[in-house]
Amino acid sequence: MVRSKQGKRGAEMEKKEIVERCPYVKKCGACHIGEKSYEEELAEKKKWVVDNIGKYCGKINDIVGMYYPYHYRNKVHAVFGRRMNNGKDEVIAGTYAEGTHTIIPVSDCLIEDAQASAIIRTVTELIRSFHLWVYSEDTGRGLMRHILVRKGASTRQIMVVLVTAQVQFPHKNHFVEKLCELHPEITTVVQNINEKQTTMVLGERNKVLYGPGFIEDVLMGLRFRISPGSFYQVNSAQTQVLYKKAIQAAGLTGTETVIDAYCGIGTIGMCMHAKAKCVIGIELNEQAVKDAKANAKRNNLEHIRFVAADATEYMTLMSQRGGRADVVVMDPPRSGSTQAFVKAAASLKPGCIIYVSCNPETLGRDLGWFSREGYIAREAWPVDMFGFTDHVEAVIKMQLVEK
Ligand code: SAH
Repeated sequence: MVRSKQGKRGAEMEKKEIVERCPYVKKCGACHIGEKSYEEELAEKKKWVVDNIGKYCGKINDIVGMYYPYHYRNKVHAVFGRRMNNGKDEVIAGTYAEGTHTIIPVSDCLIEDAQASAIIRTVTELIRSFHLWVYSEDTGRGLMRHILVRKGASTRQIMVVLVTAQVQFPHKNHFVEKLCELHPEITTVVQNINEKQTTMVLGERNKVLYGPGFIEDVLMGLRFRISPGSFYQVNSAQTQVLYKKAIQAAGLTGTETVIDAYCGIGTIGMCMHAKAKCVIGIELNEQAVKDAKANAKRNNLEHIRFVAADATEYMTLMSQRGGRADVVVMDPPRSGSTQAFVKAAASLKPGCIIYVSCNPETLGRDLGWFSREGYIAREAWPVDMFGFTDHVEAVIKMQLVEK
């Protein structure tokens, strides 16, 4: 098994040590740490990829695992709740037990960033000492709903997003002052207002309470701004491994027009920019597109533009107007792509399509659709970005052959 040289060094923990250090094993449902060794897990993930795409794909390379598969999550979320403990009513922060809405208090998680866990513990304490109300899903009443902590792995900038059920936030300034005093590493605090009775964590409105309202991270020599609602890969070290594979697979020579579909804040397209003639990023989330545009400016990239649109609609329109692309890069959510997207991408007649997938099952289905459009998967590179969870990432190179 190949293990990445990226990231923090350290020995792998023994199963026994993990179970001792993680009191939530098998309870919280966020991961399956302690059940098998990381090496066994990597072998299973590779098999999962092979089982789903084997019949469509030429060569499937060995999976690249993490060098140190702990504390890798740069984005940490917790939901607030209450519980009775020895007759005392307590504020807790944690995660829902698998398949339920029962909150398992988590104060220290082996896959999450340790600084983020410490901040969540402090915020829970502050909610208690400021006598703030915790939101209840059952009654729809209360104030504090969730907390989201995001960290730029290389800049060390930290954003705390406090999700509240209404705008009014009693003692807000004092609360934030105290939090930043206890954690001077925090660079920005944002209040996100989510008034709806929904399982979605974030609402639409953000109020910046401290700092610039976003964090930055440096990836492959480029600086990226990340807003509260924008997607950003959760494992920074392995993201570089993944992006390098995607860039290599695209085999750019400097003359290509590249489409970066499902581009988020523009990371993949910007990392390819130096080797392409021009890049067009397409993304549905407007906040992410704002970040992407700001990011292109921040890095003085001229031959790249971003559009806030549905990728299928935009590519269809582009081809109707006679547009062509040499390379299409696509990185859809777990639900994968759609048949309409596949047809739209094929209508631009790219010689090469790079599919960055986070779900082998939808990937297999989509490769089937692509093969009907004349695109054959030549090679795949599985990369583990999510140690101890049931997720795996892979880069796939497809080429156009005559139908
Ligand atoms: N490539 C980026 C983001 C991948 S996540 C990165 O590596 O960071 C997938 C992104 O697809 C999300 O930002 C989501 O908002 C976007 N998305 C989902 N459906 C879309 C659609 N129909 N058209 C364009 N973008 C879409």
